Amino acid sequence: VETLIAWSKINSGSSNVSGVNKMADAICQYVKARIGCKIKTVAMLKVQDISLTGNPISKPVGDALILEKHSQTAHIKILLCGHLDTVFDKEHEFQHPTKIDEDTLQGPGVTDMKGGILVMLSALEIFEKTPLAKNIAWKVILTPDEEIGSLASRELLETSAKDYDLALVYEPSVTTDGVFAKARNGSGNFTVVVHGKSVHAGREFHKGGNAITAASQAITQLNAINYLDDKQITINIAQIQAATALNIVPDKAVFKFNVRFRNDEESLWLQQHIDEIISNINALPNISASLHGGFTRPAKPLTPNTEKLFECLKTVAKQLNLDIKLQDTGGCCDGNNLQAYGLPTIDTLGVRGANIHSNKEYIILPSLIERTKLSAVLLLYLANNKNMFNSC
Ligand SMILES: [Zn+2]
Repeated sequence: VETLIAWSKINSGSSNVSGVNKMADAICQYVKARIGCKIKTVAMLKVQDISLTGNPISKPVGDALILEKHSQTAHIKILLCGHLDTVFDKEHEFQHPTKIDEDTLQGPGVTDMKGGILVMLSALEIFEKTPLAKNIAWKVILTPDEEIGSLASRELLETSAKDYDLALVYEPSVTTDGVFAKARNGSGNFTVVVHGKSVHAGREFHKGGNAITAASQAITQLNAINYLDDKQITINIAQIQAATALNIVPDKAVFKFNVRFRNDEESLWLQQHIDEIISNINALPNISASLHGGFTRPAKPLTPNTEKLFECLKTVAKQLNLDIKLQDTGGCCDGNNLQAYGLPTIDTLGVRGANIHSNKEYIILPSLIERTKLSAVLLLYLANNKNMFNSC
């Protein structure tokens, strides 16, 4: 718990590059004292985005941290993933952990997912002390930008996935009683920049092109897609910026939105309809609109291979008197990408807690030991059972 309190005190908001790297350092020190493995950091490319003024910007992110253990006698290769960053940047009011009672610690990142990282590393530490350790080759990837969509670390995850048989991700469980994520929605972030034509609002209004009203039309059409027909697509218009003097027709409006969808068919349908709406707006007189961004995470339906991995988890959970329950969730994570890269993936092996992404985030402390045991016995089970997922 002391380790978790110390880690929670390190601000590692996705935009706080030095904070994320400091978090990686703290984990390095922790690992060096406990687990024999290769440790390295990998610098990430900057994330390209469009600002609310419509200009290209690039955002730096911290380094990814990689831990690796090879084994000549391994019959299975496992990728374990987590993220160093949190949603709380340096300016956020929520910076310090507070012990609420014996079993509850409130603090930034305690559940999402510094507690999960602690579970992952503790399970590896236990596993590496057993004779079965030689049967598994593993790699840990801790990304610096999961909370902003893993745009910088996506490539690292994709190239690593090719060499591994399955992925274990340490996001918190879906509910306080430990439910695992079954299917996850996919997600995407888009920016629309609308240019109009600025004229005097009194003298030559008819010659203008109002970027705000054009953007509003696009927003209304996009909003109409929510829960359309039998689809479960949602579009959240989250940011908008435009302003000029009241006697001038505005020549620029920028807005941003997030989309969620259940499967590839829905994302394909969605892309076509977004493109259609943008071309409708482009057909308006004196208006030009451009679409930026795209889908960041594919949907994660429950695949037969992931189901097989859940069966393994259920088997070992019985030894610990734990009942494994699954539930769909609209949230997404690196697990979406890892499964899309071909790996059977369980992505809620982290701790139990609640109120993540808010200043009331807390962890149920006994879940640290409970989840460490669960992961340790899962690793032992996979080490002991050949030919389940192996490519070695
Ligand atoms: Zn997370």
